[in-house]
Amino acid sequence: MIIDLRSDTVTKPGKAMLEAMFSAKVGDDVFGEDPTVNELEEKAAKLFGREAGVFCPSGTMTNQVAIKAHTQPGDEVVCDATAHIYHYEGGGISFNSGAQAKLIYGDRGRMTAKEVEETINVKLDNHLCLTQLVCVENTVNRAGGSYYTFQQMKDISAVCKKNNLKYHLDGARIFNALVETKDKPSELGSLFDSISVCLSKGLGTPTGSVLLGNKEFIRKARRIRKVFGGGMRQAGFLAAAGIYALENNIERLKEDHYRARELGNAIKALSFVESVMPVDTNIVIFKLSDKMLSDDLLKKLAEQNIRALNFGKQSIRFVTHLDFTDEMLEKTVKVLKAV
Ligand SMILES: *Cc1c(COP(=O)(O)O)cnc(C)c1O
Repeated sequence: MIIDLRSDTVTKPGKAMLEAMFSAKVGDDVFGEDPTVNELEEKAAKLFGREAGVFCPSGTMTNQVAIKAHTQPGDEVVCDATAHIYHYEGGGISFNSGAQAKLIYGDRGRMTAKEVEETINVKLDNHLCLTQLVCVENTVNRAGGSYYTFQQMKDISAVCKKNNLKYHLDGARIFNALVETKDKPSELGSLFDSISVCLSKGLGTPTGSVLLGNKEFIRKARRIRKVFGGGMRQAGFLAAAGIYALENNIERLKEDHYRARELGNAIKALSFVESVMPVDTNIVIFKLSDKMLSDDLLKKLAEQNIRALNFGKQSIRFVTHLDFTDEMLEKTVKVLKAV
């Protein structure tokens, strides 16, 4: 038994998802002729109360396509310092869009409307880089799966509207947030100009993300996706997994959160652990105390077939997911206690 806690991207499709994929009706999606891709895009858009969607190979692409669609070279994108779009997308904000990031040091990855208002440049001044886009990430990956309340996101949306700025949601793990807050995705949708939703994280598909917005935005995004090399042909086989996931794998995310909290509680009690970030959803990030290095602990875990992610010299990340069972939880806790 291999226990892989490096990420919620390591899941493999189960029997029912595979069957849905095998039996998908497909066509050439670059011609708009794949019925299953069309169905997924419509279904996701409807869920979030938006007009349209576009299916992309990755969440990096949905984010980067959105940034490209919303900005011009020389514009500024405001995001938290922990943001995936800033840290983990290869410098894509400048590489793809010629824009620059302006960082806010928020509370565990969450910016406030006040911080956004104080940070944006909207007055024409020859010295300043003009802000065009504000991005929030929900849940926040690097901050250990923290999430925004609806009101917090709404307050930021008011600042954006008032200042004529575009507002993007990196919702790679948006359903992890929604099963906790119990907010409706359709209500969230109206706050943002664009929303990126990953299907291959907690929802457990092999690959793919959808980008949502109004018709005009999605038309533009579809063109940019093609230019970025993301136009796929018989992608319905993959989209079928997405439809299956939206229908079956959302509510069960609570189980992942329960197991993450159990892990977090067990880790707190370990002598070689200095601190554990609050466990709000499915991510557990902890800091080791003086003597222990991340690599040492990872090696010890690997000897017991447990894999985790090095999150800094003395930090480790565990992410729970669809393929992490109660039996695995029990074994992981046992192995950690024996280190
Ligand atoms: C995983 C992730 C993405 C997208 O990643 P891909 O691997 O490109 O699908 C975007 N934002 C956040 C916060 C993520 O965790």
